[in-house]
Amino acid sequence: MKEELLREYARLAVRMGVNLQKGQKLVVRAGVDSAYFVRLVTEEAYAAGARDVIVHWSDEKIARERYLHAENDVFDEAYPWQVQMFDLLSAEGAAFLSVSSSDPAAFEGVDPDRIRRFSVAYGKANEKFYARLMASRIPWSIVAIPCEAWAKKVFPGKSGEEAVKLLWEAIFRSVRIKDGGDAVGEWTAHCSRLTDQAKKLNDYKFAALRYENVLGTRLTVELPEGYLFAGGSEKDGRGVDFIANMPTEEVFSAPKRDGVNGVVCSSKPLVLNGNLVEGIRLTLKDGRIVEAKAERGEEYLRAEIDIDEGAHYLGEVALVPYHSPISESGILFYDTLFDENASCHFAFGEAYPTCVEGGAELSKEELLARGINAESNTHVDFMVGTSDLSITGVTRDGKEIPVFVNGDFAF
Ligand code: ZN
Ligand code: ZN
Repeated sequence: MKEELLREYARLAVRMGVNLQKGQKLVVRAGVDSAYFVRLVTEEAYAAGARDVIVHWSDEKIARERYLHAENDVFDEAYPWQVQMFDLLSAEGAAFLSVSSSDPAAFEGVDPDRIRRFSVAYGKANEKFYARLMASRIPWSIVAIPCEAWAKKVFPGKSGEEAVKLLWEAIFRSVRIKDGGDAVGEWTAHCSRLTDQAKKLNDYKFAALRYENVLGTRLTVELPEGYLFAGGSEKDGRGVDFIANMPTEEVFSAPKRDGVNGVVCSSKPLVLNGNLVEGIRLTLKDGRIVEAKAERGEEYLRAEIDIDEGAHYLGEVALVPYHSPISESGILFYDTLFDENASCHFAFGEAYPTCVEGGAELSKEELLARGINAESNTHVDFMVGTSDLSITGVTRDGKEIPVFVNGDFAF
């Protein structure tokens, strides 16, 4: 891929993604195969005035070997020095950038219980760090770059080299980078469109959203009083704008924890902890998932829902038009960062505190009292949008307003 486009992507991640400020530290979390891109990110970060750049490396192949062969009890603990690293750096206000590059089949055949136990242990140990991320107290962002295994899954039948090239092109289109283009300008306009859409949804003060489509989704999603939809950029604890996901096409909020009833069916495959889960069908009663089925990967889906009680409740409701740019590309990315931005989605697990008015300042207990799902060590998005999806908003005085008609916004 062309050096100047890669550099522009690195610059976009640093300047708009985490929006690194002069004198701030940057923590980059990335796989070892992404080193060539992380080096560019590091150069851009120092050019932006970074105080220091700290890289936390990982490798899926090594993680897989560990899942398969390490002693059974190591999955019940997280190492304190790792916990301390994220805790100290997030407490002092560092920015966190993740460079994702995942093989959708990385953990195929791994014991789902080992994955579940490690998620529980890791999530609990890193609770303070995750709370700062979830409440947007510190800036964070996720971007993705291709790896060969991922690219070949997206473009089957192509050689590794060709598939990687095609995936780079698809990623660049989705993050609005092109030869001679003005990515920063385009992102600024894009974020303001998303903010406008969110404001419309907030102004209606809906009591509930009713979903219906041909896959069998029949779901009523109540919204808590004082809910806030948001989209595009958000503000960190110091009031500085950052963009948590690149790409992003969604406006999102949180459902009322105990106010979701009916059946919801997934419309795209979900890669969950390195395993493919397809054909999800969840039944919810008073907010709780009482039945979880999937045509493929059901054991991995169940293991994730069994992480804790909060994982049995929805923590996000997100709206994305069927005719959004990523969806119109017709590419199934097998990566949630992209697929969730091509489709309406929900997440089970923890809600973002900022989804209710004043939420960033509230404790978990206060957030629960405000009606959102504030306590879980997971947050898993799954895609539910279709070309025929209808969503009807019901206002607090009982008026019905079309929100989605045939898969797209009605306003
Ligand atoms: Zn989302
Ligand atoms: Zn989400």
